[in-house]
Amino acid sequence: MQIFKVGGAVRDRLLGLPVTDIDWVVVGATADEMIGKGYRPVGADFPVFLHPQTGEEYALARTERKSGRGYGGFTFHASPEVTLEEDLIRRDLTINAMAEDDQQNLTDPYHGQRDLEARILRHVSPAFAEDPLRVLRVARFAARYAGLGFTVASETLELMRQLSESGELEALTAERSWKEISRALMEDQPQVFIEVLRDCGALKVLMPEVDALFGVPQPEAHHPEIDTGLHTLSVLEQSALHKQPLTVRWACLLHDLGKGLTPEEAWPRHIAHEHTGLKLIKAVNERFKAPKDCQELALLVGQYHTHGHRALELKASTLLELLQSFDVYRRPQRFEEFIVACEMDARGRKGLEQRSYPQADYLRGAASAARGVAVQPLLEKGFKGPELGEALKRERLKALKAYKENA
Ligand code: ATP
Ligand code: MG
Repeated sequence: MQIFKVGGAVRDRLLGLPVTDIDWVVVGATADEMIGKGYRPVGADFPVFLHPQTGEEYALARTERKSGRGYGGFTFHASPEVTLEEDLIRRDLTINAMAEDDQQNLTDPYHGQRDLEARILRHVSPAFAEDPLRVLRVARFAARYAGLGFTVASETLELMRQLSESGELEALTAERSWKEISRALMEDQPQVFIEVLRDCGALKVLMPEVDALFGVPQPEAHHPEIDTGLHTLSVLEQSALHKQPLTVRWACLLHDLGKGLTPEEAWPRHIAHEHTGLKLIKAVNERFKAPKDCQELALLVGQYHTHGHRALELKASTLLELLQSFDVYRRPQRFEEFIVACEMDARGRKGLEQRSYPQADYLRGAASAARGVAVQPLLEKGFKGPELGEALKRERLKALKAYKENA
């Protein structure tokens, strides 16, 4: 049997990037031979094994054929006769379809190295169209390597467009899609992921609510970029520049969905978009079965981001309601994520990227004033049950009034 490094490890070494996980392909072996050498099989119907010591993945060289819709609709053929070239041709991009032996000799039948040098993301073969997940993968790699100057080959974008129009994207499971979306959002330039999906028509299928924001104007005084879609991309870009976590990036992407519902007669204003957007945010959350913390933050940011921007003008009672809505007493981290999401929204505007955002510290101060109200003295006064809740609220309101006066 012969063993080769494949995929990301080869690609990233050639790019001079750190290699974290290594995928291996094994040519000329049977499953029984692998098991005989101590490798542990990963799944019943997948010819993939874990190395007994390193735990890295070793896949038997295989060919794939599409046999139906979606991911279940694949037949694999792994046997000692499958060649390295045959295994590489089923892969998504040429830069991912190179292999390397232990002497670093490159096997590169589909010219991945040439595309690496030309900074091009290009599909390996027409079989690309057999797995719609590849549309998301290419957009994700575009987001990751945009900083190095990579772009998607026009013929690959064309294939992605055909896939998007074919209805195949709808066969993707929420789990597979979310894995790609969440990884893409954590890349350096997540806005490129959305742009590429939009360019090939996949955004309209996957997140029509986000797609609908392009072409929707906002008042120029607050939004020099005017277009709501461009604004959303900038907010996402800011969230990556500021190294925000996934929850915040997801909330940034979805915060303005309500603006896509504003009737044209009302443009460029978007009265109550915070409320109209909630059902759309909920729909996108559920479509991809986003984790609970992502879902929650997206809804809260959608509903309250305008409150964040107007923080300094809010009455003490409104501030209190805001803090209560976030349950800031038990969930301080979530409120902090709301604050930074608002800040990203404020900076994700053309020419305003460097603006100061005093609302952030003001809201932090308000939260700590309300959190500073001690329960013990109220308990000692004999308050309990709902009355204790009311008394706490009164004290917190007092604390917020004092905070406002001194701020
Ligand atoms: P990363 O750095 O994100 O791990 P990677 O290229 O190693 O990038 P993996 O998802 O680990 O990506 O997959 C390893 C290799 O398997 C890829 O480089 C590619 O050759 C192939 N591959 C993975 N998923 C697909 C797919 N859906 N379609 C085609 N080839 C795929
Ligand atoms: Mg990998």
